[in-house]
Amino acid sequence: MTKAAAATPHDHAHCIASALAQADTLCEQRGARLTKNRRRVLELVWQSHAPVGAYELLERLREDGLSAAPPTVYRALEFLMSQGLVHRIETRNAFVGCPQPQHEHEAQYLLCEACGDAVEIDVGGVRRRIEALAAQHGFTVTAQTIEARGLCRRCQPADA
Ligand SMILES: [Zn+2]
Ligand SMILES: [Zn+2]
Ligand SMILES: [Zn+2]
Repeated sequence: MTKAAAATPHDHAHCIASALAQADTLCEQRGARLTKNRRRVLELVWQSHAPVGAYELLERLREDGLSAAPPTVYRALEFLMSQGLVHRIETRNAFVGCPQPQHEHEAQYLLCEACGDAVEIDVGGVRRRIEALAAQHGFTVTAQTIEARGLCRRCQPADA
């Protein structure tokens, strides 16, 4: 997996700070315990906009000097997902922070094949359309994954 995603042209420290502040507020409102471990895992997920795998998170926790075991990371990720703070990118089996955890939604993504970044998009209309078409077949949809692959603005050739 490429690490070029860190070279984003925006103030990513602001992304991290605002994600953590939102998590603190939301968990307090909901009476959910954002333990030190869970908060650290969230911070690590937010190191870039590229999805990160559980094992990479585990390695980074160990770099912190924490004697973290895989279940620690998985439990933290499960908690973070249950609070909507983190989403799982199905096709990559990796995790990415949600910029809008305060309202419930299903996450759909634009995935850059060059830098690895994931951009969350709202495809409410598409989702409803699929549900309507499914209903015509007497089919009940329980989960939908929309992950579009391609090149982000930064990764497209300059002369395009
Ligand atoms: Zn950012
Ligand atoms: Zn989201
Ligand atoms: Zn890119």
